Amino acid sequence: MSKVFYKNKRVYFDCNATTPVLKEALDAAIYTMKNAFGNPSSIHIDGAEAKLIIEKSREKFSLFINSSNSEIYFTSGATEGIQISVISVLRQYISLKRQNININNKKILISATEHKAVFHAIYYWIEVLEIDLEVIIIGVDKFGHPNINEIEEHAGETFFLCTMAVNNETGLITNLKQIEKIIRSQKNYVYWLVDYVQALGKLNVDVKNPLIDYACFSGHKIHAPKGVGVLYVKNDAPLSPFILGGGQERGIRAGTENLPGIAAIGTVINLLTQKKNGIFCKTINTKSELNEFRNILIDAIHRSFSMVIINTDLNASVPTTLNFSVFGITSSEMMSIMDAAGISVSGGSACNSSSKKFSHVLSAMELPEWQKANAIRLSFSFTTTKDEILTGAKKIIKIGSVLKTTNLISIKNTYSYLNKSFFKNKKLFEIINFKYENSYTWLLTDNFSNSCIIINPISQLAQKILNYIQCQNINVIDVLMVNSKFESELDKEYFLKIIKISNKNDSNNALVDKNIFYFSGWKIEQIKNKNHDFEEYCYIVYQNKLKNYPIVAFVDSLCSGDYFNKFKLNFSNDEDKKLSRKSNLFDNKTIICYFKDFNGSMMTTWGAEEKNDDFVKNDKYLIDYKNLKNDNYLIFDVRELYESIIYNYFNNYDFKNYCSNIPLSYFVNLVFDLIYNEKKLSTEKIVFLCSTGKRSLIATNILRKIGFKNVWSVSGGFTLNNNKFID
Ligand code: PLP
Repeated sequence: MSKVFYKNKRVYFDCNATTPVLKEALDAAIYTMKNAFGNPSSIHIDGAEAKLIIEKSREKFSLFINSSNSEIYFTSGATEGIQISVISVLRQYISLKRQNININNKKILISATEHKAVFHAIYYWIEVLEIDLEVIIIGVDKFGHPNINEIEEHAGETFFLCTMAVNNETGLITNLKQIEKIIRSQKNYVYWLVDYVQALGKLNVDVKNPLIDYACFSGHKIHAPKGVGVLYVKNDAPLSPFILGGGQERGIRAGTENLPGIAAIGTVINLLTQKKNGIFCKTINTKSELNEFRNILIDAIHRSFSMVIINTDLNASVPTTLNFSVFGITSSEMMSIMDAAGISVSGGSACNSSSKKFSHVLSAMELPEWQKANAIRLSFSFTTTKDEILTGAKKIIKIGSVLKTTNLISIKNTYSYLNKSFFKNKKLFEIINFKYENSYTWLLTDNFSNSCIIINPISQLAQKILNYIQCQNINVIDVLMVNSKFESELDKEYFLKIIKISNKNDSNNALVDKNIFYFSGWKIEQIKNKNHDFEEYCYIVYQNKLKNYPIVAFVDSLCSGDYFNKFKLNFSNDEDKKLSRKSNLFDNKTIICYFKDFNGSMMTTWGAEEKNDDFVKNDKYLIDYKNLKNDNYLIFDVRELYESIIYNYFNNYDFKNYCSNIPLSYFVNLVFDLIYNEKKLSTEKIVFLCSTGKRSLIATNILRKIGFKNVWSVSGGFTLNNNKFID
């Protein structure tokens, strides 16, 4: 497989995060590096040529946004443009105060959905400069439109206003003309910064209409390289230098200019200008083409996901951004699925992809929690081709069908992925987890009677679990809470509302007393622990065959055995003497499944916890993918089944052994087999693989902690080894 072939198979729908450099822009950048490499400040011909390139770019840019050359400054990006604008306005405020001018307008208004760069810059510089300006965050409606009444209410006392032309997460276009009317009709002059980063190339930008003071732009959002941007400052607006040195950019932004970047921006602006003037330009799409592309993608999304909400206001947004949420599938799950299918998208905003917190934009829009948790931002650009859009739409439709199929695939089929010589026994019961943030709902399923018990119902997972049990035709016997808190009762109630409970009064499954459940071949004991004003519960599962000790315990969380020590104290006061002796309660082999995951682990064994080993050190257990070509490893792909089916990449490579799929959500079952059934496996060398190496490391650490010594994770997973795999 050639590199080009692989790349061609992917589609890039994350253009609001950054864009690929256009060929024309690349050529311009390379030309400057090869032929016009002089320092623009030098007076010889090489320097003069470099200077000319900068000034030509400046001119093209200023014409494009209806300004003059003296109002354009090249920066390292929009973030720097924002800093310069903020510092300029704040220094103006300080200067007026020093002149003892009475300032009545002491407010800074920021729309709640601005880019973080604006918030951070303002709060930081206000603190550093010890300025007594008050920051007012303007609320937004459910689509992100700023509350105009709030702006009106504060406008008379406003010194500085920050808004954006187009939102980077939702694509919403701000009605700047409406805001202009309000602030330009005040007696006081309001300095106004508009973040035009996501508007450039998609909307007409005219800095005189509406009349603004500062505008920032970023090269890498319009197919120029990273590290270059433009700041517009109205000729009579306050202006203070931010980076001082050799006096470049008229003393406002010192440092030798980023000539390749500036040349590239000029080239892209040239193409955009041609298009604007009606000159044929194949590279740049028309507005109607972009609208057609958006419709193709919306259609694919609706066809693939039955319960989907588009968070973007389609009547007031650029066509290139679609923010949507699919019920039952979190952002990170959907991103993994899309990634496996060969589509790059982001969840909310790129800056948020590693953070657990919801996007501040979607939070300001007050979307329901599931919509925030499941939000996906799909963004293409004014250069994306129809071919890419159609390929992307096809992939989205394939994802839809695979998601439906995998819900229908029996769990037993999952095991057909396994190497039969190791897992010859038919599985009668399985333990499956569903994850929400750092918490798990567990399903204890009996495949013989096709029934299950749900432990720790988390309402955000209810829809997904409902899909699962309906597709598998599983009866739910009971839903067990993990504490007596009111919120837990609400979660349980929510589950009971949408999931039908069956067989509750069946003699086989009857609750014999209030703490003991019999379910198929198991006895499940509920153990209570008083915790101030509520009770905590843990569930201990005994299997008939192994009567003396529990095979699994479901517990809240476990920090070096504290949790069980708590129980031990509690049990010692208990009348039930059997429970008072900890050693009788658990066996070394007892598998402990957590409800909450505080240390990147979803399970352990009692033996491992009792030993209280040092924390497992990750770096020791990494191997290079190359080892898989020659050495004998049992290889497990721990991605979810749908990811594995959509992109069964690993088996395209000449690994010595077959790569089987054991999703992390079924991982406990593998551990169970390793501990109880498959002694032979404990001597095998096992390796785990996933997309980035994160999930495979979790799997590795769990087995290492339990005591398996021959377990490794492929460093960097599929993504980092991507090019190496292809070579
Ligand atoms: N403003 C908006 C709306 C953006 O989307 C971004 C980039 O994420 C920025 C500002 C910051 O731009 P830069 O990366 O050029 O500093």
